[in-house]
Amino acid sequence: MCGIVGYIGKEQAAPILLDGLKKLEYRGYDSAGIALLNAGDIDIVKAKGRLKVLYEMTDGGKAVKGTCGIGHTRWATHGEPSENNAHPHCNDEKTIAAVHNGIIENYAELKEKLIKRGYKFYSQTDTEVATKLVDYYYKKYGDPLRAISEFALRVRGSYALAVIYKDFPETVFAIRKDSPMIIGVAGGAAYLASDVPAILKYTKSVYYVDNLQIARLERGGVTFFNLDREEVEKEIVKITWDAEAAEKGGFEHFMLKEIHEQPKVVKDTVNYIYQNGNLGFSEVGLSDKDFKKINGLIIVGCGSAYHVGLVMQYVTEDLARVPVRVELASEFRYRNPVVNGELVIAISQSGETADTLAAVRAAKEAGLKTLAIVNVVGSSIAREADYVFYTKAGPEISVATTKAYSAQLVAGYTFALKLAKIRKTIEDNEYSKLLKELSALPEKLELLLSQKEQIQKFAAKTMDKKDVFFIGRGVDYAVSVEGSLKLKEISYIHSEAYAAGELKHGTISLIENGTLVFGVLTQKKLAEKTLSNLVETASRGALIAAVASEGITLPEKGLDFVLRIPETDERFAASLAVIPLQFFAYYLSVLRGNDVDKPRNLAKSVTVE
Ligand code: GLU
Repeated sequence: MCGIVGYIGKEQAAPILLDGLKKLEYRGYDSAGIALLNAGDIDIVKAKGRLKVLYEMTDGGKAVKGTCGIGHTRWATHGEPSENNAHPHCNDEKTIAAVHNGIIENYAELKEKLIKRGYKFYSQTDTEVATKLVDYYYKKYGDPLRAISEFALRVRGSYALAVIYKDFPETVFAIRKDSPMIIGVAGGAAYLASDVPAILKYTKSVYYVDNLQIARLERGGVTFFNLDREEVEKEIVKITWDAEAAEKGGFEHFMLKEIHEQPKVVKDTVNYIYQNGNLGFSEVGLSDKDFKKINGLIIVGCGSAYHVGLVMQYVTEDLARVPVRVELASEFRYRNPVVNGELVIAISQSGETADTLAAVRAAKEAGLKTLAIVNVVGSSIAREADYVFYTKAGPEISVATTKAYSAQLVAGYTFALKLAKIRKTIEDNEYSKLLKELSALPEKLELLLSQKEQIQKFAAKTMDKKDVFFIGRGVDYAVSVEGSLKLKEISYIHSEAYAAGELKHGTISLIENGTLVFGVLTQKKLAEKTLSNLVETASRGALIAAVASEGITLPEKGLDFVLRIPETDERFAASLAVIPLQFFAYYLSVLRGNDVDKPRNLAKSVTVE
């Protein structure tokens, strides 16, 4: 959520800060600001709304001098989006300025104490409290590092905090807890950001800051400290993807580009595990012995990652015959679950999803082993889980996930297959056949991409719909839930997904003339039943559409739209069936003039509860 940047080097800082913030726009924000150390003063410029406003106010940053500064895009949690609440915040003397991502949970209590000590507050934010708390300890101890460690000892919550002090005109200080932060270095400059794309243009050498580590960024490089202000050594990580991976590359939107990247992403993710005709999980950290110990799974995630869990439940139970429970991470973390030695699988694109991270911690506390399926190397969930499966989706910029979802799905399939093989619940020839099917998915995905125009046309016909339903059984139900979420997220059309058998238990009363109902039909034994449910809605006036595998028999008349998807093993059909639904959501969003990549009220990486 939201973005944080910092720079110290020889160049003018403001254009670099604005450029970094631009690369973080995908994370969602409602206001932005920068603070620069300039000729012994701190200059602050901030504005409500899009970064464009800040660009205009500062002539692309050129109007703000200084070679050291911090910047922020805010996703308001405490206080409305306004210029006043926008970051950076500073003390009354303007000798300290700070930007912050996250939430200070005990801000009210700290604020009261600071008021008693004479501090005044001008915004509703928790961040102003954080800034003044650092100021208080800086004045008390005269040590900028100590001020930050004293801050960390007193606050509860999550933060990526960057601070500049007038007394240190060539230094940026930073600390983080549970909110992401990386630091890059190159040619005598140091860059700070919430995520790699912000600094990729300048460097590929990156430090992943750990929880409760303090960083001091200077021209000569970065020094890290623990809360006792002792220096700690950290390793530089080399980023393997290049700046282009985070650019639109000729596509109109990141989402469209990312939809088109799915064949490659699926291939890369499968190949990460599939080597020499077998599935090897050594890079994940899971040995065959570990697999043998698995007596059940609990899968946790939020949003689309949770929907991957729903697919995994069908596939893993069917193939490997172990009980699988899927839970919303935000529920699991608080509900004192009864556990029995299961392996907990936490799914998250960013690896920073606050609820999923908390679920991992809850699982560990309950004595369970945890496997992370995440996309971002070095992210919090990756670091805290016992085992890590890195999906190979590359940077996903669009807020609505497509390629990360697809990568997570195939990661799930490889896991299920390996488990089935070790538990001997499938024959060797079946195992080999399924591996072949997995390898054939990218080609079939390519084929599906070429059908996008059909979906575009259908979307144009249905762009005024107020309600869209998605129904299916089994894996088709799990895909329906994802299709429906995609539509809601970016088209802002009301949508529901229903297990097709549930329609008659209430929902069918919502169907009226012109309601659009999509049936997902990839499971041979179940398709006929779902088809009947679909036709039932047509009798009540619904417009009906089907996303159906080649081999499914459909009636010659009655369906208003049919999109065929290539045959694959039914267990893997979600990977194909989701593509038309992604396109449908995408085109409806474009047609309705929405901001496809940055839908309203949403943030990419949800690092708060
Ligand atoms: N809680 C802070 C605020 O509302 C920071 C929000 C953010 O992460 O952008 O200002």
